[in-house]
Amino acid sequence: MAGTGHGTLAVRTWRAFRPDREPGVVPPAAGTTGGSTGTADPTPRRSAATGTTRQVPFPVTVPCATCSGSGAKPGTEPVACATCDGRGRLQQVTRTMLGELVRTQACPACNGSGRVVEHPCLECDGSGRTVEERTLDVEIPPGIHDGQQIRLSGEGHAGDLGGRAGDVYVQVRVKPHPQLVREGNDLFCTVDLTMTEAALGASVRIPTLDGEEQLELEPGTQPGRLHVLRGKGMPVLQGFGRGDQRVLVNVQVPRRLTEEQRRLLEDFEQSASDETYEADEGFFQKLKSAFR
Ligand SMILES: [Zn+2]
Ligand SMILES: [Zn+2]
Repeated sequence: MAGTGHGTLAVRTWRAFRPDREPGVVPPAAGTTGGSTGTADPTPRRSAATGTTRQVPFPVTVPCATCSGSGAKPGTEPVACATCDGRGRLQQVTRTMLGELVRTQACPACNGSGRVVEHPCLECDGSGRTVEERTLDVEIPPGIHDGQQIRLSGEGHAGDLGGRAGDVYVQVRVKPHPQLVREGNDLFCTVDLTMTEAALGASVRIPTLDGEEQLELEPGTQPGRLHVLRGKGMPVLQGFGRGDQRVLVNVQVPRRLTEEQRRLLEDFEQSASDETYEADEGFFQKLKSAFR
């Protein structure tokens, strides 16, 4: 089935969908340098079908405004690291039988930057970065799956020494629908008929994403009968069309009978013949088609 990949989605790819604003999604936690993650409050199934826009607040590190990201107290400058002479790297030379082995490693004193801050900025404690609360409108595309991540490119934590900012990952949770179960892009529900409704035929209302629909069930409807409503499922994520909705018929058999009801059923059984129960298609065949 197309479009059911559950990877991370780059947000750039779906600018064109209609937002139907709903409040609240994602309270992510602060992550490491150059990145940030978060989880989203559940998006109702209906919003997952139409797509929506949620405001997502999250903490993010930004370059310190007081020291412009240098980490040095205003009026002072970072100085060259004495350990590595400002090169940011240390070389270690080992003599072996095969000759000299040169290993280079980042200078631990300055973390490879070649500079150290002698007078740290009081605002950011010399790190050059501060934490800020940011809120972004996150577009959630139609057909999103529970647990899928949306990547907001370049909206994460500031990089080291003015490096490129990391990405924000918003994890989307989709609230289950009370009556519809999702299987990929298809939706699944059951409908209960009484024994007599199944025998006489019935008109039932069933829930769909587009509201309730009337379903006509012919006389002699069997348990396990499957109705497929084409195109009534979830939209295909970043694709075209929609899945189907499958409606499985369950027939309820009476559990407690009055004396009179028992007599009526016994009379009915007396009058029934093989023809009364003559099958057109086996129950097992129908059940199999439900799980194809
Ligand atoms: Zn600062
Ligand atoms: Zn150094």
